[in-house]
Amino acid sequence: MSTSYDVINPATEEIVKNVPHLDIEQTDAVIAKAAKAFDTWRHIAPGERARLLRSFSQVVTDHREELAQLEITNAGHTRSNALWEADNVANVLMYYAASPERLFGKQIPVPGGVDITFKEPIGVVGIIVPWNFPMPIAGWGFAPALAGGNTVVLKPAEYTPLTAIRLAELALLAGIPESVFNVLPGKGSVVGNRFVTHPLVRKIAFTGSTSVGKSIMAGCADQIKRVTLELGGKSSNIIFADADIAKAASGAPGAVFDNAGQDCCARSRILVQRTAFDAFMEHFEVAVKKFRVEDPNLATADMGPLISKKQFDVVESYLDEEIAFTGTAPTGPGYWMAPTVLLPKNTNSKSWREEIFGPVVSVLTFEDEADAIAMANEGEYGLSGSIWSRDVGRALRMSRAVETGALSINSNSSVRFWTPFGGFKQSGLGRGLGPDALDSYTELKNVFISND
Ligand code: NAD
Repeated sequence: MSTSYDVINPATEEIVKNVPHLDIEQTDAVIAKAAKAFDTWRHIAPGERARLLRSFSQVVTDHREELAQLEITNAGHTRSNALWEADNVANVLMYYAASPERLFGKQIPVPGGVDITFKEPIGVVGIIVPWNFPMPIAGWGFAPALAGGNTVVLKPAEYTPLTAIRLAELALLAGIPESVFNVLPGKGSVVGNRFVTHPLVRKIAFTGSTSVGKSIMAGCADQIKRVTLELGGKSSNIIFADADIAKAASGAPGAVFDNAGQDCCARSRILVQRTAFDAFMEHFEVAVKKFRVEDPNLATADMGPLISKKQFDVVESYLDEEIAFTGTAPTGPGYWMAPTVLLPKNTNSKSWREEIFGPVVSVLTFEDEADAIAMANEGEYGLSGSIWSRDVGRALRMSRAVETGALSINSNSSVRFWTPFGGFKQSGLGRGLGPDALDSYTELKNVFISND
């Protein structure tokens, strides 16, 4: 039985739209069409597939204002973030549009003939997306998938389906053939789970919580289905006393409170070398108080509301530790929360260990490099992080020792569409973006041709 879902504007609590949810039969019907479309899409000449992806990129650019406005209304993203996100989809499409003509194989020396490798498409790829960055995360999956010659079924998160639905319409407008890129709004337990169990879906690219990721990986085992996972994080912002403390402190709010902290890369643990603690906190308090939490439509907004009442309640449950200081937030309707800085007792505290996924950061001190490495590597996650030091050797030693996939030194920027992104440990499996992502959307075939 199909149902529907009321999409809520988290800044006003008003209903934006009612979106029908697909049931299993409807999901199966779309998967069957995507499997049929694969027969033609995989055989479209590389140059033509590239041209279609460039055209898709251009159409997204032409609609960036509309897409950004949808995300502001649906997810409470700030205007500057939402525009960046729409542009990111266009950029990722343009980047992978260069791939169809460059899916090079190898020629490997062998006796008695020639050995060559091919990168073959996999088939229908199922992409399951969370609500925190609906547009970019969808694009990080569907752009390399389509470039590799696969067709796509994409399930947006229940809270945030609007931009994905529009992107599917824009793909058609750009000339991508029917049923090549399909968006299926629905429940994770229905549509998402069907991607896992349906034999014609040959690969899953899942982004979301570690707990659901584990169940998806277990489900994929049944068919040895290809799977890549982008999961949770609890990343560290490590600040040595020899760093530019004022710069590290002024960047720290954005590194954790961007998107209201609903960011898998959020640096939600701040580790400050003991001798720099007072200086850091002084600068940090000024920066947090300046961080503007307001109507996300305003160009000046640094942060909007949380996505839902449910998320608000989860995040609020972490506010029972000592609070160093907070920023401000609007009152009235909407799921608003002020950025909050906690001083946990030690590394066993709940706020230090768990992914909060809200505008809350915990600060602890460390003594030396060894201490910082041990603290940063504690726990099951390993996605992102920052290291601040003027000592190049130390920064390099630290970057090799911290067990995470996407680190930045004297910066908090860890996502670029042309560099790899993904997690160590339970933060994920495989890498998205960059030159290597195509390997996760193709199968390597080896062919030997005899001289005889
Ligand atoms: P979630 O795991 O609850 O849901 C993610 C998606 O999976 C949704 O579309 C949901 O409908 C679907 N889903 C739920 N149950 C399913 C099932 N049984 N089978 C198939 N699909 C199912 O996560 P969320 O709350 O939407 O997102 C927040 C989480 O995502 C956080 O843990 C965050 O760290 C993580 N995340 C990770 C990255 C990354 O790149 N590593 C990026 C963004 C978010």
